[in-house]
Amino acid sequence: MKIEAVDSFLLSLPYRTSGGFHYIAGRPSNTLSMLLVRIRTTDGLTGWGEAFGHAGAVATKAMIDSLVGPLIVGEDADDIAALTETVRRKVHLFGLSGPAVYAISGIDIALWDLRGKREGRSVSDLIGRRRGDLPVYASFLRCSSEEAVEKTCVSALEHGYETVKLHEITVERMQLARRSLGPSTALAVDTNCPWTVEQAKRVLSDVGDLNLRWIEEPVWPPDDYEGLARLRNAGTPISAGENTASVNDFRRLLAAGAVDVLQPSVSKVGGITTLLEILAMANDNGVEAIPHCGYMGPGYLANLHIGASIEPAVPMERLYIELEETPFPTMPAVIGGRTAVPHGPGLGCEPDMRVVERWQVT
Ligand SMILES: [Mg+2]
Repeated sequence: MKIEAVDSFLLSLPYRTSGGFHYIAGRPSNTLSMLLVRIRTTDGLTGWGEAFGHAGAVATKAMIDSLVGPLIVGEDADDIAALTETVRRKVHLFGLSGPAVYAISGIDIALWDLRGKREGRSVSDLIGRRRGDLPVYASFLRCSSEEAVEKTCVSALEHGYETVKLHEITVERMQLARRSLGPSTALAVDTNCPWTVEQAKRVLSDVGDLNLRWIEEPVWPPDDYEGLARLRNAGTPISAGENTASVNDFRRLLAAGAVDVLQPSVSKVGGITTLLEILAMANDNGVEAIPHCGYMGPGYLANLHIGASIEPAVPMERLYIELEETPFPTMPAVIGGRTAVPHGPGLGCEPDMRVVERWQVT
């Protein structure tokens, strides 16, 4: 089936949170950017994807509209791996990570949605679905105060979450969260690359008694794989991967023994096709994989469909914010810390175009 049109939609979605005022990528933010990709094919079907994102979404949108989208119009939509590989080769001079690859990621997800719709099957069935529902973890944004940390922990407990992830960098706030949650809720901490290896070692020795599920991206720069490896076996599992994009970089990360938990991101690495390749590599290396997901549209749905194939089940990331209005009204809710995986066809949820138009940034 031939690709007839590729369009992108950048939405700025207001959200509520108990965590107070927020910054995303260094800029104050009370809205979530969602970059949607729509692909139409000559058989009249429409597929949806989501590309990274956030404060840099404008750059990815320009890549989709001006370069990557036009490259695939008129091409065959059926062999997704061959098509995305061809595009990657054509645009590799713009980097093996960054907006060009994020654009490919959104397109790849939309092509999987289309493939599922054409075959009348869910994306998870195409991948190898093992379960119909999944545990979800509450991924807090960094809170603006200690009170906000406590309040958000209590809220997540009340909603039945069994795993919580903070984005905090002080030992005091990590201890506060552990006290607020009690001993039986799994607690992970995402630090977003703040420390040298030596600084990270000191923090790890201070939090050794908190029984953290993992500590995420503790060192700068994020591709210091040898540095990350030096932090392992200190009692707290080390995780990283959302800032790694190419398959070869993941190979180097794994060869360095950098992590206990690998976190590739579907809307950054090249979409579902590449993520599955990376998960197979993690499996071959005996490393647990829990994909990163800072998305609330097709990127989140793609992550659920992938998660349905991961054995044993791992908790899937969900931003702990409440969108004022979701563009995907039939997306399954999180109830008691779990969510259903849609049955499809494709990703299984369609956008409400009135909501898309309401929050679209032009
Ligand atoms: Mg992270």
